[in-house]
Amino acid sequence: MRPFVHDLTSPRVVFGPGTLSQVPEEADRLGVRRVLLVAGTRDGGPGEQVARALGERLAGRVSEVVMHVPVAVAARAVEAARQAATDLVVTVGGGSATGLGKAVALETALPVLAVPTTFAGSELTPVWGLTEGDRKTTGRDPVVMPCVVVYDPDLLASLPADVAAASGLNALAHCIEALYAPDASPLVPVIAEEGVRVLAAALPRVVADPGAGDVRPGELSDARSDALYGAWLGGTVLGAATMGLHHKLAHVLGGLGLPHAQVHAALLAYVTAVNAPFAPEAMARAARALGADPAGALWDLAHATGAPTSLAQLGLAPDAAGRVADLVLEAPPVNPAPVDRERLLALLDSAQRGDRPAPIQ
Ligand code: NAD
Repeated sequence: MRPFVHDLTSPRVVFGPGTLSQVPEEADRLGVRRVLLVAGTRDGGPGEQVARALGERLAGRVSEVVMHVPVAVAARAVEAARQAATDLVVTVGGGSATGLGKAVALETALPVLAVPTTFAGSELTPVWGLTEGDRKTTGRDPVVMPCVVVYDPDLLASLPADVAAASGLNALAHCIEALYAPDASPLVPVIAEEGVRVLAAALPRVVADPGAGDVRPGELSDARSDALYGAWLGGTVLGAATMGLHHKLAHVLGGLGLPHAQVHAALLAYVTAVNAPFAPEAMARAARALGADPAGALWDLAHATGAPTSLAQLGLAPDAAGRVADLVLEAPPVNPAPVDRERLLALLDSAQRGDRPAPIQ
């Protein structure tokens, strides 16, 4: 056994169908009186429910939720928290809502209770992100880590199938990169391998059309619970280990305006193919969890679930690769495969075209 540091902070997790109704109880448990609710209008259903249930504890609301948290949006949310003299931020939504809640916590040190409605995993990390122009800045600060996470699989029912597939692959990407993370304690790959297995099995069932197939009654709901369990595992390892080239590329492409989860879905197979020869132990675990060559299996999963499999599909201009490579090379990540310009351009070329990666011999 090699020496290691295990530094994993986990929020209190409340998991199960219908647990949205427990948010007021959880707020009371924290001893708070004045809640700022952060919930976008598209997530208005559960946001409304929580607002009603909070009753007089609801001191303010922010519904301007924008992906990658533009600094101006964050500043307005911080102001809303101060105006309302809140003592807890409750976020209801995907990574964008969670991210906005974290931006408020970063400035105010308010605790955050997160109710995720996608599989993004932000609710389990001390990582915040803010965007100014085409540059996204991220940092780690324990103050932004939510203290309670309420996972209610019923909230995933409204997620369109293509968004669910992409978001699930986002969670899978956390697991894949955790398998070769340089600072992972021995527990991290164990959790990550389970995450790969659970997500790969659940996502096809989550996106299955109940009207078209032979889905048994109740199965979709179980699939969502399974996928959300996988998202918890993915978020856990995302918070516990340093991510590599895949997350770096997704971060850069996000700054250029590409949608977060879809970028993860489109890139994962190609980065995995590039890293495979340099990370044999990680790939053995991934292959065990996926039941096949990891890069090809991840591409097949994206394809089968209707997630994007190429950057061209997401509108990346063919001549953008040079700029993307420059931005990555400004601060290259620690990664199994050496990160140089030639390798980056080759990877981006494959991801732009979208062909299924060939098995590594
Ligand atoms: P998102 O929160 O922007 O949601 C995507 C879309 O789906 C939005 O239009 C949203 O309104 C809608 N939506 C969300 N949940 C829904 C539901 N249940 N039903 C119907 N529609 C729903 O996207 P995301 O992928 O969850 O999060 C992306 C953001 O999170 C990015 O900014 C990314 O950088 C950040 N992120 C941060 C971390 C971290 O550790 N800091 C981790 C993962 C993601």
